[in-house]
Amino acid sequence: FFVVFEGGEGAGKSTQAVKLAAWLKLRGYEAVLTREPGATDIGARIRSLVLDSPSKDRGGDAAPTPRAEALLFAADRAQHVDKVIRPALERGAVVVSDRYIDSSIAYQGSGRALGKSEIAWVSAWATGGLKPDLTVLLDVDPENGLHRAKAGGDGDRLEQEQLDYHEKVRETFLQLAAAEPGRYLVIEAGGTPDEIAASVRDAVAERLDI
Ligand code: C5P
Repeated sequence: FFVVFEGGEGAGKSTQAVKLAAWLKLRGYEAVLTREPGATDIGARIRSLVLDSPSKDRGGDAAPTPRAEALLFAADRAQHVDKVIRPALERGAVVVSDRYIDSSIAYQGSGRALGKSEIAWVSAWATGGLKPDLTVLLDVDPENGLHRAKAGGDGDRLEQEQLDYHEKVRETFLQLAAAEPGRYLVIEAGGTPDEIAASVRDAVAERLDI
């Protein structure tokens, strides 16, 4: 059984992924908690190539171009599926991943305007067609989410351009969920972490029939 958490910055995906994996372990399952990008050795190098490049925000020479970035995320995902996700599913574990294909469709396909169907195609090829059994979308208004993600930081003022980008990302996540309602659980990320965790547990328990 393969569960994915998706959502924008500051939605609380990582917190919820940890809570779900801990609950599954209590129920006697082998739960493999993982994330994208960066779950494998090669993935960690790709993550730092894409996210830590010094001139990232200025589009300088050291930063990958949007197409290169999309392919780097796809390479990270191919390695992740082959080395971590598929082997775990094959031995009967429940895999809980913080982000998967929908992040690429939302960020690269829509945010960076590379085309949602093109990115879906590249992702399907990279994963050999592996889809989650359940995707939990933690929906958050970008303005709140970005402030939450930056809480404790230097309190950067949010640029309009940045907000527009994250608004497109949010809309795309919601569209993907609306297109396949049986495979998605959409939760408004404003609830308390415990309330959200309880809704996630109910959805997973129902699908695992426990
Ligand atoms: O989820 P996490 O905070 O680790 O994601 C790291 C960053 O990578 C986020 O800022 C997210 O916007 C970005 N990202 C992306 N495209 C993806 C996955 C993540 O731009 N496919």
